[in-house]
Amino acid sequence: MIPIAKPTLDEREAEAVRRVILSGWITQGPEVAAFEREFAECVGAPHACAVSNCTTALHLALLAAGVGHGDEVITVSHSYIATANSVRYCGARPVFVDIQPDTFNMDPHMVEAAITPKTKAILCVHQIGMPCDLDRLLPIARQHALPLIEDAACAIGSEIRWNGKWERIGKPHGDAACFSFHPRKILSTGDGGMITTRHKDWDAKFRLWRQHSMSVPDTVRHGSPKVIFESYPEIGYNYRMTDVQAAIGREQLKRLPDILSRRREMAAVYGARLSAIPGLRVPVEPEWARSNWQSYAIRLSEDVDQLQVMQALLDGGISTRRGIMCAHREPAYADLPCPWPLTESERAQEQCVLVPLYHAMTKQEQDLVIGRLENILAPVAAV
Ligand SMILES: *Cc1c(COP(=O)(O)O)cnc(C)c1O
Repeated sequence: MIPIAKPTLDEREAEAVRRVILSGWITQGPEVAAFEREFAECVGAPHACAVSNCTTALHLALLAAGVGHGDEVITVSHSYIATANSVRYCGARPVFVDIQPDTFNMDPHMVEAAITPKTKAILCVHQIGMPCDLDRLLPIARQHALPLIEDAACAIGSEIRWNGKWERIGKPHGDAACFSFHPRKILSTGDGGMITTRHKDWDAKFRLWRQHSMSVPDTVRHGSPKVIFESYPEIGYNYRMTDVQAAIGREQLKRLPDILSRRREMAAVYGARLSAIPGLRVPVEPEWARSNWQSYAIRLSEDVDQLQVMQALLDGGISTRRGIMCAHREPAYADLPCPWPLTESERAQEQCVLVPLYHAMTKQEQDLVIGRLENILAPVAAV
């Protein structure tokens, strides 16, 4: 069986976890602090704050942006449901705009028309690792004095050309960027998240809120020669990452260059060979973007049955997933009518298939996936 994804873990991560366990300090502590420093350096961010996952990262970023009850946040429906849910945690309403069919990302054309006096922020997504068009989104956000939050859950190591230079997603180019370390992403800590921001005061808020808004962190009390009483100036959350997770993350981060080059190599092979199959379109990077290829989404033509293709692949021992979901089509969002059609979002969900791509995937495994797709979609051409 060829899985859709597989985390890259070995003795190095196991040894790091052992070290933390034997140190006696396993929750948020020195490993988290070191992971934050290393992550910030990796993406070129002034501040990075580790949290329990990307969903909680998004929640805190929206709170820092001032999003509250009754506000509107412009975002996409075509994303993992956590994107929209994070807006609702703030008591706000996600206003969904459609995507561009070639990048699966927020269509900047649609954003301006969606802005109302209630709009409090724009939440864009670098979907499956493909950078969204920040160069066009950022001026719109700035012109309307709206914070721009980047859902970079899948985009560790992805790059965007910015003022003539390649820069990593998460610098951040907007106000804050949120990352995920779930095993479906290219680096994993089991579960985990990171928020990078350009604002020192936002970073301070994240640190307070992630630990119940406790005025004196436990690490400080633990090492203090004097008795300290903490206070709780506002409502906070338990959104901490543990030192066990952070130790795994530090090892994972060292693997990033290798993981990126291998994924880009495999994406190039898919691109060259699958594009020759009639009725199938492969993803293409805009000239200003470099994906980390967190997922590889092929697009079937309208007359091809997505379910049949996926079943035929599964019968051949190849696991796939359908295109990214649309939150507005889920029962949890039935109470939130969309003011306009989200045609491209729905079409992308119905016509795309995510095919296996993981670091340890062998050439033979990739050949098998390609051969099977040729057989299913172009049986004549394949003989
Ligand atoms: C995975 C994902 C999330 C959620 O990340 P968690 O770490 O699982 O909370 C949010 N947004 C997008 C686009 C994702 O792909």
